[in-house]
Amino acid sequence: MKIAVLGAGVSGLTAARLLKDKGHEVTVYEKESTPGGLARTRYTQGYLYDPHGGHIFNSKHPEVVDWVFSVLPKEKWQFTERNAKVFFNGTYVSYPFELSLCELDIDDAVECVHDFILSKEGPEPTNFRDWLTWNFGKAIADAYMIPYNEKIWAYPLEDMETEWMQGKMPLPTKKEMIKSMLLKNPKERKMPHSTFYYPIDGGIQSMVNAIAQGLTIKYDAPISSIEKSDKGWRINGEGEFDRVISTIPLPELPQVMELPENICAHIKDLKFNSLTTMLFSCPKTDITWLYVPSHDYRSHRVGYQSTLTPNYGPSKEEGCGALEIIGKQFDIAPDFADRKDILPEELGFKKVIDSEFTKYAYVIHDKNYRKNVTAIRSYFENDKTFKILGRWGTWNYKNMDLCMLDAMNLVKELS
Ligand SMILES: Cc1cc2nc3c(=O)[nH]c(=O)nc-3n(C[C@H](O)[C@H](O)[C@H](O)COP(=O)(O)OP(=O)(O)OC[C@H]3O[C@@H](n4cnc5c(N)ncnc54)[C@H](O)[C@@H]3O)c2cc1C
Repeated sequence: MKIAVLGAGVSGLTAARLLKDKGHEVTVYEKESTPGGLARTRYTQGYLYDPHGGHIFNSKHPEVVDWVFSVLPKEKWQFTERNAKVFFNGTYVSYPFELSLCELDIDDAVECVHDFILSKEGPEPTNFRDWLTWNFGKAIADAYMIPYNEKIWAYPLEDMETEWMQGKMPLPTKKEMIKSMLLKNPKERKMPHSTFYYPIDGGIQSMVNAIAQGLTIKYDAPISSIEKSDKGWRINGEGEFDRVISTIPLPELPQVMELPENICAHIKDLKFNSLTTMLFSCPKTDITWLYVPSHDYRSHRVGYQSTLTPNYGPSKEEGCGALEIIGKQFDIAPDFADRKDILPEELGFKKVIDSEFTKYAYVIHDKNYRKNVTAIRSYFENDKTFKILGRWGTWNYKNMDLCMLDAMNLVKELS
């Protein structure tokens, strides 16, 4: 078959590579000049930078892990134990916060444990704000869960649903929490995804480039038209493709193809947020990520690129991290050192190295989410020749491994 894949992110590249391996004639269309989508890396002043957020790899799906290591061999990856922290009241508390209460000031810890033990009473709430309190108890919710989620979503939590949280957020039981208080060795307080891989050289771009190897990719080729003819699909006025797989964000489709009015209305109602990341130099640390729940600071998270691989930059003495802020915030670049409202001064951030804006960062699961995506997905399911795939192609909060798994399943379906 002749197949067009729209978008050279992890989803599009995985599908294209698997289809090519099965003997199909595949052309990938990508609007940027390099592959990777959100999973990109570039070097600035010799520093490694994943501009759309640090991208680490882990998966509980063995077929995905095996496939990734077949594309970029395991010896090319650094294996790391997560050492994430929450910056809370001026101290570094281990992640997950709710299993590290023994690191808090005794009065705070007592409140958190007390409320956690009383949690999960009554019916499970369906809005995200109440659900956080119901699950973790009032003290943990007020101190950490609610402010952190208010920052990362920048959307009213009471207007978000909760179904999508299943499997995304660690949800320890009361017994697990009590055990964590009694354990002497903090290393035993582990949750899923406590280890991960990151390429030793070249950042996550190394994985992406390895997947893209040998594929026919048209770069600098934004999709301008998708038309159906008697012989198949024409993309940007060319080709006669038997199948199309679209991984580009759903809101782009009504601009380039004919869709029923009701589907366009559902697409228009989809919610998402955007992100600014900024790479800065700082003292070297062994922290992998730092969560910053306090509303005193605009950034909600810092990913330390210098802990992902030893080959992160020009200096072995100095580290580097990328802060994340929701929204378009380029104004912070020039006078970063003086902006104490961005990150706690204690982190010792020094000079700004690079920054980037990401329009499509997080899918927001608002109250209309389910209704909108069900209508959109069932419309495309009825079409056997045009398939949607990926985080933005299907409007689903998925990490790289689940995007790869979906691509694998779609390829099986098409074969
Ligand atoms: C801050 C952040 C941190 C993350 N960290 C991790 C992590 O640590 N580990 C992990 O597994 N996952 C992580 N993810 C999730 C991960 O980024 C996604 O699961 C994955 O990259 C999605 O791939 P995709 O191909 O579906 O979408 P994208 O990466 O968005 O790819 C879509 C592609 O389509 C192209 N495109 C868009 N519009 C057009 C157009 N009109 N014409 C042509 N091409 C177009 C884009 O340029 C892009 O290349 C993170 C996401 C974010 C936002």
